[in-house]
Amino acid sequence: MTLKIENFLAEQVPATPCLVVDLNVVRENYKNLSEAFPLARIFYAVKANPAAQVLDVLVEEGSAFDAASYAEIEFCLAAGAKPADLSYGNTIKKQSDIAAAFKKGVRLFAFDCEEELQKLAEAAPGASVFCRIATTNEGADWPLSKKFGCDVESAKKLMLMARDLGMDAHGISFHVGSQQTNADQWDIAIGKVAMIFTDLREAGLDLKMLNLGGGYAARYREEVPSAQDYGKAIMDSITHHFGNHIPEIILEPGRSVTASAGIIESEVVLVSNRPSQDNKRWVYLDIGFFGGLTETMDEAIKYKITTLKDGAKSAAVNIAGPTCDGVDILYEKANYQMPLTLKSGDKVRIHAAGAYTATYASQSFNGLTPLQEYYL
Ligand SMILES: *Cc1c(COP(=O)(O)O)cnc(C)c1O
Repeated sequence: MTLKIENFLAEQVPATPCLVVDLNVVRENYKNLSEAFPLARIFYAVKANPAAQVLDVLVEEGSAFDAASYAEIEFCLAAGAKPADLSYGNTIKKQSDIAAAFKKGVRLFAFDCEEELQKLAEAAPGASVFCRIATTNEGADWPLSKKFGCDVESAKKLMLMARDLGMDAHGISFHVGSQQTNADQWDIAIGKVAMIFTDLREAGLDLKMLNLGGGYAARYREEVPSAQDYGKAIMDSITHHFGNHIPEIILEPGRSVTASAGIIESEVVLVSNRPSQDNKRWVYLDIGFFGGLTETMDEAIKYKITTLKDGAKSAAVNIAGPTCDGVDILYEKANYQMPLTLKSGDKVRIHAAGAYTATYASQSFNGLTPLQEYYL
């Protein structure tokens, strides 16, 4: 929690739930990553937090952007990003959206199968393409494995096919899973990419770009590696696998740029003792699964939650959202403790909530308004 956010909450007393983001922290996180990866170009993964204020700061810092949709491409252009600094990194795109992006000047596209490549060849002729390979996502709190990526053999075939279709067969990407705390997972993937580079060079195709994806962790309840830790481990791995032929490197961080910059302030709606249940108190907040805390699904992301009464005697609680929906439970197993004196009307703060929250909030499920956002 920064002083700027603390003062804003104290002085403005905004209605809850609300997300308050300190843009200085976004800037710092971006700088830390670029210093940790001096050879890489950073493409901020816009979906983590596409707020105009965030994009403005990152354009100022010279970031490039990884967009998941045509709408996100428009957000980036509106913030002043150049089309040449945009990557359309979703492997699942409507052909009409590819064409629209190409018309705006976007020239870098992801794919992981033949049909998508054919769409690109038609709607974005001659553009640069990179093929996403699958990784296990082991060790990631928020996996992105099953749905994306192809195997190494398919990637080789597809890249040769891309060349034959007149595309710039540019490189290979992967994503080791979001909130990935094990840097070895990059090493495994980088080893595979190096093999693809070698085999394709022998087949007469020189790839140029290694896309390391996202996954760099934010600090929630547990310590996580720093940007420097990731940078050192991953650059060592690249040197190990590529030797003197270091390719162009790009990085697509989302969470690690915006998560730690934001805090959600929420109000306790009810604290109830339910002896017939499990003898734990239930704390119901005015934000839950449908209000933006979607990453608590299966208790995957364990936010650090504090109250203004912390320090008083505490006991175990279950934490749930306010809706009339049975799945709207945040934590039962993850061992959260809250003060015994906590009661309805008290404020709680959900830390490192600047990524993957506001855009996940439902439109008006149970009549709830989407999470209000403030950017300072
Ligand atoms: C979501 C996403 C990212 C960002 O991942 P983080 O774990 O937030 O860093 C990067 N690249 C692609 C292709 C993505 O879909």
